[in-house]
This record gives sequence, C-alpha cells and structure tokens, in this order.
Amino acid sequence: MRIGIIGAGISGLSAALALRKRGHDVTIFQREASIGGLIRTFDFDGLPLEHFYHFLCQTDTGYFTLCRELGLEHLIRFPRARTGFYHDGKLYPFTTPLDLLRFAPIPFAQRIRFGLFALEARLRKEWTQLDELTAKPWLIDRLGRRAYDVIWDPLLTLKFGHYHDTISAAWVWHRLHRVAQSKGRMGYLEGGTALLLDTLVKRLENDGVAIHTNCPVTRINEENGHITGLSFDHHPSFQCGQVISTVPLSVLADLLPPGWNDYAAQLRQIHYIGVVCLVLKLKRPISQNFWLNVKDPRAPFNGIIEYTNLNPLQGKHGHIVYVPYYVPTDHPYYTMDDSALFDHSWDALKHINPALNDTDVLARKITRAPYAQAICTTHFLKLMPEHLAPLNGLHLLDSTFLYPEDRTQSGHILKANACAEDIEL
Ligand SMILES: Cc1cc2nc3c(=O)[nH]c(=O)nc-3n(C[C@H](O)[C@H](O)[C@H](O)COP(=O)(O)OP(=O)(O)OC[C@H]3O[C@@H](n4cnc5c(N)ncnc54)[C@H](O)[C@@H]3O)c2cc1C
Repeated sequence: MRIGIIGAGISGLSAALALRKRGHDVTIFQREASIGGLIRTFDFDGLPLEHFYHFLCQTDTGYFTLCRELGLEHLIRFPRARTGFYHDGKLYPFTTPLDLLRFAPIPFAQRIRFGLFALEARLRKEWTQLDELTAKPWLIDRLGRRAYDVIWDPLLTLKFGHYHDTISAAWVWHRLHRVAQSKGRMGYLEGGTALLLDTLVKRLENDGVAIHTNCPVTRINEENGHITGLSFDHHPSFQCGQVISTVPLSVLADLLPPGWNDYAAQLRQIHYIGVVCLVLKLKRPISQNFWLNVKDPRAPFNGIIEYTNLNPLQGKHGHIVYVPYYVPTDHPYYTMDDSALFDHSWDALKHINPALNDTDVLARKITRAPYAQAICTTHFLKLMPEHLAPLNGLHLLDSTFLYPEDRTQSGHILKANACAEDIEL
C-alpha cells in the first residue's frame, strides 16, 4: 500500500518505521526544514538540545520498545531526581513521602489526604466517570482548599494557563497515576532526542522511506469519499490510497478537501494551548530540583525545569534550565519579544535564587509552539473524533487520542504502531 504521512514528529516517524516493517511504501511530508516537531533540537552553544524539556516515566513502554529497536535501550537512565515547591518566597523539598509530611504550607490533615489520594490514583483503573467531573472542585473536595491552592493550582496553571479550571478530573487522575506508577522516578535518554532522531531517520532512510522537508501539505485529495493523495504549493502532487495525519486536529481541518465542512467543524471543537519556553544555560544552578513548582506573586511562571538536575550532561554544558509559559497564542507572553520575556523571567529567577547574577547567563533561547497541548476539558470523551476519519483511507494521530493520558512521546509511539497494524497490505 502507498501511504503518505503528514508530519515528521515522533508520531509520523514511528508510524513510518512500523509501516515499512509491514512492507508498505511510505513517504513523509514535513512542513519545516527540520524534523522532530515538538521534540526537534537546536544547537545551544555547542550542545544539541531539545527546544522543550522531555522526561521519561518507567511506564513509557512505547518509548523503550522504540529505543530497543534502534539499539539505544542501554542509554536510558533513571537517576534519582528531586522535585520541589517554591511557595511564597520559600523552597520546600517535595520528593519523598517524608517531604510531603513536612510540607508546611498546607495543614497536616491535608498532607495525609494528599498522600492517600496519590496512592488511590496509583491503584485506580476506572476513569470514565472522572471525565464528567471538573478537576478543580473534585480536587478541592478530595484534598481540601488549601492543598488545591498550594499544590494543584500551580500544576494545572503551569500546563493549561487560564484554562486550568476547565480541565477534566480524568486528565488529572492520569497525570498523577503515571508519575505514581513510575514510583516518582523520572528518566532520560543519554544523547537526548538528537540521538533518537538521528538514529531513527538513518534507519528510515536505509529502509527506503522518503522524507520530504520544507514540504507543507496544503490539501488532502479525495474522489467519491476515498483518499487519492496530497497536494502542495511547491511540490508535485503525491498519489496514495492512505494518509496518516499527525498534525493537530484544527490544522488537519484546514487541509480537508471541499465538501467536508461538517467534519472539519467537528475537528475544530478541540482547542489547543500554545507554549513559549525560555531555555537558559547558566553558570550556577537555580536549585537542586529537576522539577520546581512555583507559586509566588513575584514569579510570572508556575514551574522551572532544571534539566541538568536530571541529566547532568557530564558537567560539560553548565546548568540548563527551562521556563515554560503555557498560554494562548494571543497572550502577551506569547507575542512579547524575546528580550522582554527573558528580562521578565530573569528578575523572578533571581528572586528564587538571590545568588544569581547577570553574568551567570551563558546562553539563552526562546521557542514558541502554537499547539503545545490539547485542552482536555470536562466531557472531553464526547469531543474526541474517531481515529479513522469518515473520509476513507484517512487515519488520525494526535495527542487528543491519548486522553485521559497526558501527551507523551511514548503514548504517540504506541498509537502510531497501532495505526500501522490497522492498515492492510
Ligand atoms: C513544553 C513541552 C513539554 C513536553 N514534555 C514532555 C515530556 O516530558 N515527556 C514526553 O513524553 N512528552 C512531552 N511532551 C510531548 C511531546 O513532545 C509530544 O507529545 C510529541 O512530541 C508529539 O509528537 P507528534 O509527532 O504527535 O506531533 P508534533 O511533534 O507536533 O509533529 C507534527 C509535525 O507535523 C508538522 N506539520 C504541521 N502541519 C503540517 C503540514 N501542513 N504539512 C506537513 N507537516 C506539517 C509539524 O511541523 C510537526 O513537525 C512535551 C511537549 C511540550 C510542548
């Protein structure tokens, strides 16, 4: 079967690998010059680094299987990494059960409730009822108001910005479930995403998969309800009987052929939030934590990810810190120029660690992504389309289908493999 894939992120690349193994003729079309999508890398002062931070959990079986297939499994590491809270001017450890028991910003009884709640989330399997509940009142009811305000409000705001109080309880449950199943351990691939992408692309090229970069798809073509191919502005049309779309659903809606307006409207019901992410290379660390949740009126962000506290990069690349802002694309932080956003963030980072000074900044980079995360609101199940579009031969891969799971590379790899299995030779 001749198959066209839209997008060379981890979904498109891993779908191509699985399809090629099954004997299909596969071609990938990628909008930008670089491949990788949300996991693409850049040269950060001599270090090939991801634009956005990524960590692994011990349950990321799709990722491990891909690494095994590529001969990279021995490079997966799960070190002991720390989590912390910066609350109203004070730093608290938040890694172990003892840290939770000592976590002074919330009353003792709510600390106990939080611990029991985390245990229950780890063991729970049934979640469809939680799709009908909004996380905020559910969490307040289960944990207490103070525990919500101090712990969950910054976590949800970090990820969903001002949509944080519309998110479904099912999404929150799974987020906690994934980390709890991983027993709090977070991991990484030695060599990073750059190594994964390089190895994967070499393998695909060897296997005969064509990857066209700088080649945005502008239209999906059909005849009598069946896929016939793809069109481009600056590339000859591509004829194929099956298409796998890995682009956000609202982007896919714009690529549909004429006559598919109702389906396009259904896809556009899923909304996404953007992210603008500052990456810094510093001379000194901000804290000892990999993940630091932040709730402080002086800080415009809700979290800091200090990557080198997970992966020390052999101590050769200073201290790498990510500061994400999940915001809609018309938000002032998204549209603010890079220097202004850096100044805004840097002042707050210096509050968190007063030992920092301006000469500690060795390099900086800001990256924006308009579709960072689908907004998983209450009753999200009703909004989710089918994997198989009503347009015959069109398959959808998008983080939406991972719900209630958070979007992860591993989840995308598993979905891509399942999609490949569905396509007959
Ligand atoms: C800030 C941040 C932190 C994250 N942290 C983690 C983490 O810790 N752990 C984890 O596992 N995951 C994490 N993720 C999620 C992970 O990066 C994504 O789920 C995954 O990379 C999505 O892959 P994808 O291939 O499905 O989509 P994408 O990476 O979005 O790929 C889609 C591709 O399609 C291309 N495209 C778009 N339109 C067209 C067109 N018209 N024609 C051709 N190509 C087109 C795009 O250029 C893109 O390359 C994080 C994501 C973000 C943003």
